[in-house]
Formats: sequence, structure tokens, C-alpha cells
Amino acid sequence: MNQLDRMPTVNRKKIGDTVVTLLSDGYIDGSFTLLNDIDEGQAETLLAQRGVPAIPRININAYVLQTAEHTILVDSGMGGLHGGGGDLQAALAAAAIDPLQIDTILLTHAHPDHIGGLITPSSVPLFPNVQQLFIHEKELAFWESETAFASVNENMRANFAPARKALGSYSDRLVPFNHEAILPGIQAVPLFGHTPGHCGYLLGNERESLLIWGDIVHFPHIQTAQPEVTVAFDNDPAAAAQARKAILERAVSDNLTVSGMHFNTPASGTVRREGRGYRLDYDF
Ligand SMILES: [Zn+2]
Repeated sequence: MNQLDRMPTVNRKKIGDTVVTLLSDGYIDGSFTLLNDIDEGQAETLLAQRGVPAIPRININAYVLQTAEHTILVDSGMGGLHGGGGDLQAALAAAAIDPLQIDTILLTHAHPDHIGGLITPSSVPLFPNVQQLFIHEKELAFWESETAFASVNENMRANFAPARKALGSYSDRLVPFNHEAILPGIQAVPLFGHTPGHCGYLLGNERESLLIWGDIVHFPHIQTAQPEVTVAFDNDPAAAAQARKAILERAVSDNLTVSGMHFNTPASGTVRREGRGYRLDYDF
């Protein structure tokens, strides 16, 4: 039995006064050929060493933060787009969280596996009581830009329609931001590269904190061990690798608890230096 067989698809922890619920939306099956600077054999060996299945499966997580003032959803999974994910509503039900309670949404970025769960196929918002949907202004500008649409490759171009549809369905509630202090106890952490406005969110205080770092890793054990390994989904691979190295180093030096949308399971973990790179250990 590998270590992940013990993990639930819903997990809960407390960071200061905030209750954090970590939820799996399911997964997408990818390919190791999505990765640059590592071959399939090396990738499989590395995953086997870390006790996770040596297959190119990418789990998708989302989070609910219950603070004194707000019930906040961080990303929404893939919502079944292209047959991926789509378990968020079931995971919310399992966690006894009513989608009608969600009053705020934070988006790390607007790729399909992060915004797909915001709406139904006919564009009806699944979180109708949301008052504010936070997204970095550079991220919003990118998806709204015709110049950006024309400048990317065909695969990336396919992501524009779902992003525009999902963001458009919440158009009167969008809060584009360009500063870090967005809500009491929650800071945006710019991690540009994977997408132009990709951000993480840091909660808590100096004693107790959690950094939800978005898509800093798609294959967590591979890209912590070898931060230079980029994925085909990166808009600017060099900047994405640089952001990954910088935040991994900060996670070690600031002793941050971290979690990400593509951790193998909805868990948090800690990072330490190992060899030429880093090692991620999940908290069970
Ligand atoms: Zn993603």
C-alpha cells in the first residue's frame, strides 16, 4: 500500500482563527512528455522513491477558508471540462459546506482546472452568493486581451474560451488587484510565470501560516527535487522556474507550511533542501 492510500479526499486544518478545508476535485491523466528537462524513466524513478504512483496523474485541489468574516473558495477545480476533475461539489457536500455559503472567491489563475468549477455548462454561477472574486489584474488583463490570444500557441489558445466564459459569468463581482493585502489575514503572493498573473495566497501570522501556492508544481515531488523542470502549460517557462526556485527557498527559510492545487492529495506539507533541489513532505 502506498502512503497516499490512507489520505481522504477532504482534509481540514486550522490556521490561527481560519478553518481551512482542503478538497480534491479529482484528477486529469497527463503524460510525462508534458515535462521539460526530465525523461520518463527519471520521472518514474523519482516518484517511486517518494512512494507515490509512478504515473503521470495530476490531482486537482481546491480550498475553502472560513474566517471570522468570510467563507472563501480558493479556485474551483476543473468542473468536468474536457472530462477532468468535477468532484468539487461532492467534496463540498462531504465537508458539509453549502456552496451558498461561499461569499468570496480567490483565483490563483484562470486555467481550466482552476475555473472550470465556477459555472455550469450553460454559464450559471455555481456560487451565486459570491460578492467578490479576486484575481490579479495582470491575470484578468491577459485573458481579456486579443493580442495575448493571438500570440499563444493553439493549445494555450483553447484555454481562453473557458476562462472568458467563467470570468464573464461573475463580471459584476470581479476584484482585480495589484497589491498584496487583499483581505484581513490573507496576502496575495505574486508568483508570475506559469501565467502572467499567477498568485499564491498566504494566510495566518508569524506563528502559524499556510501558503497556498497555486501551480508552483504540477508534479510535486519531481518539481521540488528539480525546480528547473517546467511543464507544457507554462506561459513563460523560464519565469515559472525562477518563481518556483524563489518560493521553495522562501518556504525553507521562513519554515512555511505549503499546499498546492496539484499536490497528490489535498494535504499540506513542508519543504526542505535536499541534494541540488528540495524535498516536499506531506503532513498526514
Ligand atoms: Zn493547474
